Amino acid sequence: MKIDKIVVKIASRCNINCSYCYMYNLGDLSYKIQPKFIEDRTTEEFVKKLLLHLQKKKLQTVHIIIHGGEPLLIKKNDFVNFINRFNLIKEKGIEVIFSLQTNGILIDNEWCQLFKKNNINIGVSLDGSKQDNDTFRIDKKGDGTYHNVIKGLNVLNNNNIKIGILSVMNTKTDPVKYYDHFKSLNLKSVDILLLDANHDTKQNIFGQDLSPSEWYIKIFDKWFHDSELTYNVRFFEMIIKEILGQKQGLDSLGINENNILVLETNGDLEAVDVLKLCGDSFTKNGINIYTHEIEEIKKSELIEIYYNSGKYLPKKCLACPIQDICGGGYLPHRYSSENGFNNPSIYCNDLLKIITHIQNTVIESMPPELVSQTGISKLTYEDALKIIERNILTIPKPEYTLKLESFKKN
Ligand code: SF4
Repeated sequence: MKIDKIVVKIASRCNINCSYCYMYNLGDLSYKIQPKFIEDRTTEEFVKKLLLHLQKKKLQTVHIIIHGGEPLLIKKNDFVNFINRFNLIKEKGIEVIFSLQTNGILIDNEWCQLFKKNNINIGVSLDGSKQDNDTFRIDKKGDGTYHNVIKGLNVLNNNNIKIGILSVMNTKTDPVKYYDHFKSLNLKSVDILLLDANHDTKQNIFGQDLSPSEWYIKIFDKWFHDSELTYNVRFFEMIIKEILGQKQGLDSLGINENNILVLETNGDLEAVDVLKLCGDSFTKNGINIYTHEIEEIKKSELIEIYYNSGKYLPKKCLACPIQDICGGGYLPHRYSSENGFNNPSIYCNDLLKIITHIQNTVIESMPPELVSQTGISKLTYEDALKIIERNILTIPKPEYTLKLESFKKN
């Protein structure tokens, strides 16, 4: 496995309490035994072993995604020491790209100076307008966090730091107003994530006023035809790139390897943290940076399945005409205690509708000669379903099925 993106948990606690949070509120309690902050000696050990891995795999760039909990709970001096530990890698001529995901509430001018000095890309979590954001993104007293996040965004803007927003879908909101709200905030990009759930817990997501696909398609249509476009929407851009044959590096789409690893504050090496929604301590595997080399992550079946999740597909996805673009969806969204990971995403129908809609819209916007050069063609959702029904009859049971089902509980 070639790992070149590490999500580093520098803090294991948060200063707010979003109700949908997979870290604290969807059944995983393992954060309680994590050190509150990463220790310098853990970072030191990690950087040494990461350098060995990068050299062994001949990788020239590594992405360090600084994460929590809320990473800005760490003391600023400790943060500086954390960043400086990566000089060991830079000194060997390997590029280190830092990004940091925060709820934005603790941002001040001093933090901004540190972000600028160390070229750290900043992502802030916000779910639309005050009313929309404060449905789920609440503090520990249950109050909304919108005003405090906007204060943080203003500090970033005053320091000329371009911001990427990470938001989570909310199908109870008006999708066009949701989209328009972000236009007022001077942003570089917005990503709109599917709400995290699996087959055991999905009941609250569906049966809302709008289905996820109706909600996303309304935003896509507004964004795609927006003559005053002010920001990129990563989810849509990635789908368009995949449709046009460009492989991209999003672990929730496509069939590329997921070369991402999580480092917990105690040095544990784990698969993507959203898998915590599958059960208490689900991502724990006994692999720790103090006792293992990075190559040893292959001993973890969960990490191996996550790394190859675009290839280890259930039969329905193998029969699907858009499997190369969708890749079965995001692995945490495929889980059920009945079948383990041997399921399509809970968002299967939505992904099929969204992707075919985007494909058809993109084709309509292209000159016919360009369409024929790319070799893509229109496909309706209904025709895609018929293709799946027909193909599935002839697909044998994949040999990796047992591996996917080894995580089932029933
Ligand atoms: S749309 Fe559904 S069937 Fe097709 S690849 Fe995605 S999850 Fe699988």
